[in-house]
Amino acid sequence: MAAAITRPEALIEALGLDSSLIEPARAAATAFPLRVPLSYVARMRRGDPLDPLLQQVLPLGKELNQPAAYVADPLGERETLRAPGLLQKYQGRALLITTQACAVHCRYCFRREFPYAGQTIDTPRWSAALDELARDSSIEEIILSGGDPLSLSDARLTALTDALARIPHLRRFRVHTRQPIVLPARIDDGLIAWLGRLAWPAVLVLHANHPNEIDAAVRAACARLRDAGATLLNQSVLLRGVNDDANVLVQLSTQLFDAGVLPYYLHVLDPVRGAAHFDIPEPRALEIAGELAARLPGYLVPRLVREIHGAPAKVGLTPRLPRM
Ligand SMILES: *Cc1c(COP(=O)(O)O)cnc(C)c1O
Ligand code: SF4
Repeated sequence: MAAAITRPEALIEALGLDSSLIEPARAAATAFPLRVPLSYVARMRRGDPLDPLLQQVLPLGKELNQPAAYVADPLGERETLRAPGLLQKYQGRALLITTQACAVHCRYCFRREFPYAGQTIDTPRWSAALDELARDSSIEEIILSGGDPLSLSDARLTALTDALARIPHLRRFRVHTRQPIVLPARIDDGLIAWLGRLAWPAVLVLHANHPNEIDAAVRAACARLRDAGATLLNQSVLLRGVNDDANVLVQLSTQLFDAGVLPYYLHVLDPVRGAAHFDIPEPRALEIAGELAARLPGYLVPRLVREIHGAPAKVGLTPRLPRM
C-alpha cells in the first residue's frame, strides 16, 4: 500500500500520457486524493488515456463542476449510524466501517466524502459499536466494510473478529473488499491464517468492474481465499466509459467464474458529487442488463440494483430483454 502512486504526474509519466492531464488531475485530487497500487497500474494500457482501469482512478477537471443532484452523502448514510462506525439499513445485517483506508481511490466511490473522522472503528474505541451489536440479537450477520477492511493489519483484524466471536447471535460474517482485485499481494500467509481461524464461514464480496482487472495474480489470490473456505462474490458499478457495454460485462462474468467468483450485484451509480461523468441513463442500463441476461447462464448474471434512501433492501431493476 505504501508503494502506491499518489502523485498525478507519477501516474501520467508511468503510462506515457500527455502532460496536459496533470494540472486538472492535481486540481481534482485536492477534493479526493489520487491513490492507485503499482500492480493495478501495470494492468493498464500504456499511452491510452481512455483505458478502463485508468478511468476509474484518474482525477478529472470535470469532477469539480457537478450538477446539483450530485451530493456528498447520496445514500443518507449519516442518518443510519447506530453507533460510531456501525451502520444498519437492512434487517438482520449490520455494517462496520472498519477504516477509511483503501488501497485504491475509485473516483465514483459513494463514500468519497464520508466523514470518517470519529465514524470508523479503527480508532481504539470499538466498544460502542460492539456493545450495540451485543445488545441486539436480531443482527445475525456482520459485514466489515470501509474503506477497505483488509487495509487493517492481520493483528487488528484478529482482535476485531475475536471480539465479534464473543457475540453469540452472529451467525454470518462478510467482508466487502477490493484488495484481492487491486492489490492481490495482500492475500498473504497471515491473511489466509486469519480466515482459517474464523468462527464463521466467510463470505467475501469483491469489487471488479472490468475483465482487464483480473490477471494471474488475482486468480491466484482468489484460489487461496477459496482454499481457506471463503465464498467469493463480486459487485460492480455500471460506469460510463468503463463497462457500459454488454460484451465487456459478459467477459467480466466469465473471467470471474474462471477465478472462482460469482457475480452478485451490478450497481447503478449513486449520485455522489464528483462522479456525474460516469452516469448512464437508466433505459440504457436496463438494456445492457437485458443483453447480459440473454447471453449468460443465470448464475453469471449479476442483479442490477439501485440503492434508494429508506428502502428496506437494494432495489432490483428489471432488465429489458432483447427481442428474439
Ligand atoms: C448494501 C448494504 C448491505 C448488504 O446488503 P445485501 O443486499 O445483503 O448485500 C448491508 N448494509 C448496508 C448499509 C448496505 O449498504
Ligand atoms: S475501494 Fe471501495 S470504498 Fe475504497 S474508494 Fe474504491 S469503491 Fe470506495
